[in-house]
Amino acid sequence: MAKGIKLFKLLGIQISLDYTWFIVLVLFSWSLAYGYFPMKNPGFGTGTYLAMGIISALLLFACVLAHELSHSYTANRLGMDIHEITLFIFGGVARLTKEPEDGATELKIAIAGPIASLVLAALFYGASRAIDPETYPLLKSVLSYLAFINFMLLAFNMIPGFPLDGGRVFRAIWWMKTGDIDRATKIASTIGKGFAVFLIAMGLIQIFMGNFVGGLWFVFIGVFVQQAAEGGYQQVVIKKALEGLKVKDLMSKPVITIKSSMSLADAVEEFFFKFHHAAFPVMTDGRLTGLLTLTNVRGVKKDDWPTTPVGEAAHKLDLEDTMSPEDNAMDALAKMMSGQADNLGKFPVVASGELVGIISRRDILHLLEFKGGLKKPST
Ligand SMILES: [Zn+2]
Repeated sequence: MAKGIKLFKLLGIQISLDYTWFIVLVLFSWSLAYGYFPMKNPGFGTGTYLAMGIISALLLFACVLAHELSHSYTANRLGMDIHEITLFIFGGVARLTKEPEDGATELKIAIAGPIASLVLAALFYGASRAIDPETYPLLKSVLSYLAFINFMLLAFNMIPGFPLDGGRVFRAIWWMKTGDIDRATKIASTIGKGFAVFLIAMGLIQIFMGNFVGGLWFVFIGVFVQQAAEGGYQQVVIKKALEGLKVKDLMSKPVITIKSSMSLADAVEEFFFKFHHAAFPVMTDGRLTGLLTLTNVRGVKKDDWPTTPVGEAAHKLDLEDTMSPEDNAMDALAKMMSGQADNLGKFPVVASGELVGIISRRDILHLLEFKGGLKKPST
């Protein structure tokens, strides 16, 4: 799952930082403190430039956050379900639980972020113009830098390559016009990949010409765009493959269950060794009460296996940890991929209190492989 640090909640959305973000913070602060600000405002001390660099980098972070929140807040108002934003190098990735249902919705969500950046750019620009350069030269410099960087964020995000905002806007409009989301996505993500290659090539040229930091930026951003374009496309393909399918179409049944009163030693002997599953639902008096995974078993010392009942070692189940046979396969996959389920990867399927099957990430991946194998190469 996404590695990162949870920061705080805003508008009901959890904000997290990816570790790569710290590299960017240092790079930004450093290049501002040793390059940009000394050039713009000569004659101050290193400490002053360093403070300006760090403050500007942190404010930039707030601006990126505002951009991402604008997307997510709009999405949630339009009925999507975004609980978490992870901030990466040049923006964020909202934990996407589903794709927009139609072009118009996608267009509104996609354009919300760039609008936020545009507003911020205008605000910082206005503020920097209002400040007297004689009295507050440094403040003016920071503000005009922020105006510039918000404008850059806007320009970068509006590149028409999926899944950048510009690519989403492009895709949404194409989608609205033709009704063909597949083709729209394919074209938009191909443009995105092409642009990524261009950025990486530009970066390498810069590095060879001696502009190491500037070139490294281009390469970074290029790799980021490339990965995003690939991932964004795959997500659409997966969604397509799972369309119309329900959990009951994919789940395994019947389910082999273990009684909670059985000892761990017997469970290992009679179930794990025999059936080679990574997890088994645990029943107490005919009711589903838990899930015993290999990790649970390993969590107990081997000497204690004969005396530890399964019910004690097993992962206790909440309603959140189960699925209904009528749930959409795509929602099921999203739930499996979301952090809530990383301890299991398997979900018991329950209908009116009865255990009717079990579904795992592997069941879904199998189906995707199978469908992928049947599909003719598309043109
Ligand atoms: Zn955006």
